[in-house]
Amino acid sequence: MAERRKFKKRFCKYCEQKVDFIDYKDLGALKFSLSERFKIMPRRLTGNCKRHQELVTVAIKRARQTALIPYIVDRKNVVEHPFENLK
Ligand SMILES: [Zn+2]
Repeated sequence: MAERRKFKKRFCKYCEQKVDFIDYKDLGALKFSLSERFKIMPRRLTGNCKRHQELVTVAIKRARQTALIPYIVDRKNVVEHPFENLK
């Protein structure tokens, strides 16, 4: 599948950057694990390790509660790069 080729590298991006704590306000760190519809990417696609995937999941859910990330994206409003207009 073409979709899968994007995530070919099987290493944890957070381990590579030696991230110990993922802040829910740091959307730049979270976007590795979010799809363009703001869904949490599964570990088999991102290659995150278990420890970091759990940190990311908690951070994303907190970010959703604080309205930094939408829970759902309308089908008509899907954008190619959702984080471009945030910064
Ligand atoms: Zn990791």
